[in-house]
Amino acid sequence: MTFGMRLRRRGLLLGSAASATVAPALVARAAPSFRDDPFKLGVASGCPRPDSIVLWTRLAPELQGGGIGDEAVPVDWELAEDEAFSRIVKRGQHMATPALAHSVHVHVRGLEPGRWYWYRFRAGGAQSPVGRTRTAPASRAQLDRFRFAFASCQQYEHGYFTAYRHMAARALDLVIHLGDYIYELSWGRHHVRRHTGAIPTTLGEFRDRYALYRSDPDLQAAHAAFPWLAIWDDHEVADDYANDHSPRNRDATFFLSVRRAAYQAWFEHMPVPPSMAPTASGMRIHDRYQFGDLLDLMLLDDRQYRTPQACGTDSRTTRRAMDCTDRTSPSRSLLGEAQEAWLDESLAASRARWTVIAQQTLMAELNRGTTDQPGFNLDRWDGYPAARQRLLDGLVKHRIANPVVIGGDVHSFWVSDLKRDFAANGSVVATEFVCSSITSEGPSAESVRRALQANPHLKYGNGEKRGYVAIELTGGSLAAHFEAVDDVRDPQSGVHRLKSFTVESGKPGAL
Ligand code: FE
Ligand code: CA
Repeated sequence: MTFGMRLRRRGLLLGSAASATVAPALVARAAPSFRDDPFKLGVASGCPRPDSIVLWTRLAPELQGGGIGDEAVPVDWELAEDEAFSRIVKRGQHMATPALAHSVHVHVRGLEPGRWYWYRFRAGGAQSPVGRTRTAPASRAQLDRFRFAFASCQQYEHGYFTAYRHMAARALDLVIHLGDYIYELSWGRHHVRRHTGAIPTTLGEFRDRYALYRSDPDLQAAHAAFPWLAIWDDHEVADDYANDHSPRNRDATFFLSVRRAAYQAWFEHMPVPPSMAPTASGMRIHDRYQFGDLLDLMLLDDRQYRTPQACGTDSRTTRRAMDCTDRTSPSRSLLGEAQEAWLDESLAASRARWTVIAQQTLMAELNRGTTDQPGFNLDRWDGYPAARQRLLDGLVKHRIANPVVIGGDVHSFWVSDLKRDFAANGSVVATEFVCSSITSEGPSAESVRRALQANPHLKYGNGEKRGYVAIELTGGSLAAHFEAVDDVRDPQSGVHRLKSFTVESGKPGAL
């Protein structure tokens, strides 16, 4: 039985039953009693470093509003080397405060590299489910294998998070989420369940939306089974927003208040260290993670610092294929100047056998018009081709050994050859894999077929299936498995492998 399966079968210990079995050091002090299970949102861990990990939970006996009020609540946590908690290596107490929606972010340091740990929380006599996590291997350690999955786009109303149940049951070292973790909007034709509340714009409304998504047992299972790294895309804030502009919120002051609330709620619900908490000006999520000598991972932020969409795009036109002279201007940036400079330095320092750039969307050019009259989706890298060029040039300039780009956002699976010149039959600089959505509705088969036909550097596309991608890295090769949910509207749906691809070390491009 896998850890994920055990997790789902284990009930919660509540009230006196839990108190009777706890170790003396963990008996809650002056603990409040909760009307209902305070661990309804599960547990999570993330940001794995060789000597540290972040543990997360949020006390919320009620999904809407949290149900605790203005009190600060002590939460005890413990981390063990074994699932039975017979060898506890760290423990402590954290005050969960209303200012952070009673979320708990514990940055546990002084750990051993490259090993599994188990953790749990206790508050007011209630005990959380047990989570499992893993530290990163020592940064120069010779590593034979590293396995991770990546996912994006989980519109709650469009389907069940069955993909995560499948993911939780497999052997992985890490999960990477590439954005659209929540959706602010209700859209689509076939809803299997409903958002509560309208489009969130306040902190309380964003908190409730995260609580609803996090109440899903399959999502909880995937969080409890592995450490996660997460970056956001637009729907965590507002559809197609760019930096401090939103096509849906024309009032700039109002939009900035929405963005601030959204970033705050993202922080409160993600397993990230307290040091990542947002400031008045924003929140830094771009970062670099190293996994032995095998993998250097760069996480990018495509949203917070970008130049607004080209060609005067607004909410009615971002999905239409467009072009204008402004689009190719070198002054346009998707990452912003500071993040571009950071990425360049990070690439210069990268020594691993594989370098994975984790970002939000499809990076390859996708001309949806014709050669004579090209048309592009301006919300993606196609709206920022000079910035894409700078990124790909950086991979060449720094002689990155095996660069691989991963993305999401487009609700369809893709494999592409990233080239310095997509029009010419030039050499391949990097390999790109894009995951389909966990649930969000995808493009028509016809539009995928046309994209493949008109863009020969796109090697594979599938918009019919929802799912995720699992990666197996070794020194000699990378295997990418595209896992597809049979029917996202069936909570008991099976998940089957749609396709597998390989990248051989030293030969960019998927086979
Ligand atoms: Fe999406
Ligand atoms: Ca998106």
